[in-house]
Amino acid sequence: MSALILANVEGAVGVQAAIDAVRSGRSALDAVEAALRVVESDPSVRSVGYGGAPNLLGEVECAASIMCGATLRAGAVGALRGYLHAISVARQVMERTPHVMLVGEGAAMFAAEIGEQKRDLLSDEARADYERWIREHLSADHIAEWPHVPLSRVLWPSADPETAKGTACLLIRAKNGNWGGGISTSGWAYRHPGRLGDSPIIGAGLYVDNRYGAVTCTHIGEMTIRAGTARAATAYLKRGASAEEACREALEDLRSLRGGYLGPVVVHVIDRQGNPFVASIGMEDPEPFWFWWEGMEDAECRGAVVL
Ligand code: ASP
Repeated sequence: MSALILANVEGAVGVQAAIDAVRSGRSALDAVEAALRVVESDPSVRSVGYGGAPNLLGEVECAASIMCGATLRAGAVGALRGYLHAISVARQVMERTPHVMLVGEGAAMFAAEIGEQKRDLLSDEARADYERWIREHLSADHIAEWPHVPLSRVLWPSADPETAKGTACLLIRAKNGNWGGGISTSGWAYRHPGRLGDSPIIGAGLYVDNRYGAVTCTHIGEMTIRAGTARAATAYLKRGASAEEACREALEDLRSLRGGYLGPVVVHVIDRQGNPFVASIGMEDPEPFWFWWEGMEDAECRGAVVL
């Protein structure tokens, strides 16, 4: 079986690290982690790790998950503050603990214990954008009292498709045929502190199973949590759907959601033969993604199907 890599647009800066890892025979999980560590360190990616967007109080809270397709083991962290490599912390949750997900202070405690790299994740650019957003979206009274205002009253302007997005995700099949997937994000910009999206939720934002394929989702995580999208698409693959059929059906599930905040979602599916299909709802332009398979020099950029 040839090795494969699929990365979304935010994951692009990590693709070369993934290719290098896969070429040198490392596992899919190693390749996922190597790629996402590059993304997390790059301040030009404004929705992941250092340089990522903060929550409504100006604090960068990161989330990440990783899943092994051979064993269905998984690890995740959410609302993690002050550590550069959320993906590595997620992986160590999987490797070293009996748990799947750690959040908030507990996740930070674990990161400290395993010697993860501490870092103030708010870059100057992200701070300036945040301060501008506060000036533009809060009333003069709220600004005068800030941050001692009921956050739920000033939260809604952040529910904007332009700010409520941004995640790096990769799905990889290594040379040995094993699949791995991973996601890292600073999440929906200016959201309520403590809000978790789908990125750390196994079955919502990520699901990987060697027997059927691999799925990852981006954009409005509240929707894919409600529909269990990544797990649902994997179940459609299990029933014999192609990547395209599984992706379309998972997006149809999302279209039947009623109420709550609804917006764009991108679903990335690869079936066990290695055929990718990526499609979006709620978007006008095709979302780019990167695809590489063994034998190619560089990954190629493709566009998601707009449904
Ligand atoms: N799904 C992420 C979240 O809900 C955001 C994104 O992927 O655009 O936080």
